[in-house]
Order: sequence, then structure tokens, then C-alpha cells
Amino acid sequence: MSTVAVEVVYRGIFQKTLARNIVRSIVFAARKEGKIGTAFGRYGDSPERNGIPAKQFAVVADDAEELDEILSRYEPTEVDVTINVDDTMCKGVESWAWYGLQPINKLTKPNGTLIVTSRQDADSLIRDMHQKDSPIGLSIVKSTVSFSGLWVYKDDHTDVRILGALCSVCPQLVSIDSMLQAIQEQMGSETKVASAQKAYDNATVRLIEPGEGNPEVPYSFDLPGWKTMEEAVVIRGIKAGGGFRGGEGGYEPVRNSVFKKFSTRSMRPVINFETCIKCTLCWLQCPDTCFDVTPDGLYDANMESCCGCGVCEAVCPVPDCVTMVSEADFEDNNSQYEMWQKDKEGYNQWMTALVDKQKAETRTHGFHHVGGYAEEISEMTEA
Ligand code: SF4
Ligand code: SF4
Repeated sequence: MSTVAVEVVYRGIFQKTLARNIVRSIVFAARKEGKIGTAFGRYGDSPERNGIPAKQFAVVADDAEELDEILSRYEPTEVDVTINVDDTMCKGVESWAWYGLQPINKLTKPNGTLIVTSRQDADSLIRDMHQKDSPIGLSIVKSTVSFSGLWVYKDDHTDVRILGALCSVCPQLVSIDSMLQAIQEQMGSETKVASAQKAYDNATVRLIEPGEGNPEVPYSFDLPGWKTMEEAVVIRGIKAGGGFRGGEGGYEPVRNSVFKKFSTRSMRPVINFETCIKCTLCWLQCPDTCFDVTPDGLYDANMESCCGCGVCEAVCPVPDCVTMVSEADFEDNNSQYEMWQKDKEGYNQWMTALVDKQKAETRTHGFHHVGGYAEEISEMTEA
């Protein structure tokens, strides 16, 4: 049996069209070689929201019987290639579809390949990924992570560059010649064909040995099975919150313990506690009730529940008091307020460096300035 399966792990809404372009193009290219295949999303009930990790799949087989067999399952139990189109998801993903954190490489079969779009190097990506007990390859498509909105598609060649790299790391899926033909026919663009060819020529694979990577066990929950569920519908009330860190002053709300949401985040806020004027706007406007009120009236964003929407940055009236920075620069969800309390000078230097770095980077949920999009396309195609 020579079925080949590919999954694309993407950020809901922001990268939905990108993921769809990739899986559809795989199937178009496979058809050029007389193979058959299908592309499909992981979820039929459209639970996508901004940033929530989601999946689409492409499955290619030699004949219909083979394809039927694999499609009789809800989704492939393992894939030859995992494509991750936002490097911050190397830390693991939590979706509407399951509880707990799923390692990014969970479905990647032994000796399969993980393709990641990133400006980071292999070592820093591997540090984030959970360990496996079998080897897999890592191929990096050097790129700023491609985000767009609900109604727009950021056509920066990320789709075709991934397709080119895919043909190099998984030649049994489809040849680069068939892929280039499919891109030309579907997209009608010579520059896109050239981008795919360049990515194919430049693709490299770094072997990740068993045991390399993050040794932590991802968080998980024991949920009641059907037989242990209570009769009737029970909607438990949320308990009242209490003082900051269990003390007398301030306020900390009680939060959902089985859906932490932080893996939806591609960027996170950092707070300048020195310039905060305690206006309360971030606390009032955060859609996920993330802010703990400290005893001295400051606001500490709880990083286990922050989904990275950027509302706090948008509403804060003080310049650079709340700044969304790349999630890739963090390895934990520790309290920024507690860091600041312990070492104010050290915190301020750390925060200033992150803010300066962000200003020089292009990771964004939108576009920094008019014309930025055109600049990014030429930069990507050169990368
Ligand atoms: S980015 Fe800000 S507003 Fe959005 S969830 Fe996180 S703390 Fe709340
Ligand atoms: S919106 Fe800005 S200034 Fe206002 S409380 Fe929040 S961090 Fe402080």
C-alpha cells in the first residue's frame, strides 16, 4: 500500500486559505501522475476562531480502494509529513477538538518529516518541540509567518514555497515537475512556479534524534466517559475570584481549568509596569478575563489564559505600555508582574529588548504600514 498522508497545522481564520491552498495543490499535482487523492479539513462543524490551532489533510493513493480504506477513519492516525505554518505551534497545540496539549509532531510517522515556516534556526525550534521515541526530519522554510484575516488572503508565496519543499522532502508523494505544472495551471503565475522551484532546490532536512527536544509531558485532562456522565445537564457556576495570589489585596478571577487557550497565541503582550497609569482599560476589554489585579493596582496578564488577540495593546492609551511580541521568544507562562517585582531593572531591560526586537520584525496579525505587504513578497521570494 503506498498511501501518503500530509497534515497542515494552521492558525484558524488567519491561515485557513493558506492551508487549503496547500492541501488542494497536493491533490491537483498527484492527479497529474494518475494518482487519486482528497483534501479535507479536520472539523465539519466549523469551529474556527482567530488563532485557534486547526488542521487540514491531503491523502494521496494509487487507487480508489486504498483511498477509501484510509478515509474510513475520521482522520489519518499518522502522516508522512506534518506542515506547521506558524513556528510558535512547535510548542504544541490545543484545539476545540481535543482537551490538553497535542505535540506538533504527534502524528508524524517514524522517519517522516516536519516542515516549519520560520526565521528561527533548527536548534531553537527543536527545543520547543516535544520529544519522540523515533527519529523524524525537520525542514525549515525560511519565512516570516504568514497571517491574514477572515476575508483576505496574504498571497506572499508561502503556499508554493511549502509545496516546493514538500516535493523535496517527500518525493514519493508527487514529483516537483507535476507540482510545478499544477501551480502553473491553478495559479497562472511564473513567479510562483519559480518560488516553488527555488524552495525545492534549497530544501534541507535536519534529523531529529529520538529523545531530542522538550522532555516535558504535555498537559492533559481526564474527562468523564459516557457511562460516568451525570444524568441531565449540569452547568456548574463559576466560583467567585479572590485576592491576588490568594492574599488579601487585588483580585484574581477563577479560570477554566480544562481549556487554557495559550496555544492559540502567536504573539503575547508584555507590560511596562513603570508607565502604566492604572486606567483599567486592558482589564475591562480583555475578552478572556486574563488580567489579575495586583495589590498595588497594576494589571498582570495571566499567560495561561491569554489567547494573544492583541486587544489590550490596542486599547492601552500609553505608548508602548502594552506591546504584542513574538510568542517564539518565551519558554514559559510565568507572571511578568512577579518578574518585575523581583528585579525591576532586569525586567525593564528584558522588556525593552523584546519591544525593540518586535519593532524590527514583521510578525503581526495585520500589516504594520501601507506598502509593507509588497515589501514582504519580494523579501520572501528572495529568501
Ligand atoms: S492579548 Fe491581551 S486582551 Fe487578548 S487575551 Fe491576551 S491579555 Fe487578553
Ligand atoms: S490599559 Fe495600559 S495604562 Fe491602562 S491599566 Fe492597562 S496597561 Fe495600564
